[in-house]
Amino acid sequence: TQPKLPQPLEPVEINQLAQDFNQLLAAQNNRLQRERQFISDASHELRTPIATIRGNLKLIERRGEQHPEVIPESLGFIDQESLRMQHLIENLLHLSRADRAAVALQPLDLATLARNVVAHYQPLVQQPLSLEAPTTPIMVNGDTDMLHQILTALLDNAHKYSPATSPISVRVAQDDQAVTLSVADQGSGIPAEDRTHIFERFYRVDASRSQKVEGSGLGLAIVSQLVQLNQGQITVQDNQPQGSIFTVRLTPAPDPKKISENP
Ligand code: ADP
Repeated sequence: TQPKLPQPLEPVEINQLAQDFNQLLAAQNNRLQRERQFISDASHELRTPIATIRGNLKLIERRGEQHPEVIPESLGFIDQESLRMQHLIENLLHLSRADRAAVALQPLDLATLARNVVAHYQPLVQQPLSLEAPTTPIMVNGDTDMLHQILTALLDNAHKYSPATSPISVRVAQDDQAVTLSVADQGSGIPAEDRTHIFERFYRVDASRSQKVEGSGLGLAIVSQLVQLNQGQITVQDNQPQGSIFTVRLTPAPDPKKISENP
């Protein structure tokens, strides 16, 4: 028997193939460009503290002997900048781990998790922290460690970007479709035009730079990746009369106790 030859493609099919190929190529180029941008941003962020450290070491070397009074201040800068670099590197590692992480989501009680995180966080800050959560379990499919990290990062930001005594509230709630975890502060708020960008790597709202709040602009990029790994969504809105509310929506899971009570 004759081997069956492949049928020549119809012009429509060739067009479709060419279109698919172009789309793939564009997506690949896009990803490469984002990666290049990321590496260039990361290098830029690391270069600044290194320059400060080296500058201060040179200063001590040149003037330290004759003017020992410059030493403590320079050592202070060196300490501060090396700490900044350490945080930055830790954050970069978190990001690249989250990039590769494949997680098995488990049913867990979000109300208890939030209660634990708030109890551990409260002694670290002066600001009053409140928690509004049902006393019954609020079950979601998620990863305990990642949800801890998400809530802690949102609390860190609420703390950093609001006055030393203004309250922060955490809320766990459930409706028919989703479970939500939100963190509300009464701080500086986020201008509407920055809201879509704050989840990008290295993005910082200008005002926060001028307020000299420490940060690298990676916190929310990490949070957003962790939320995605938990198959959730994160949004931000204005709080009233001022400040922001970050809300994470997660997938509800059936409560195992209720299932066993009503088989
Ligand atoms: P970082 O805090 O290290 O700058 P993040 O990625 O956590 O980076 O946040 C990005 C930017 O979003 C911050 O620089 C800040 O301008 C803004 N931001 C985040 N959380 C808040 C908040 N609760 N209130 C006001 N601005 C915030």
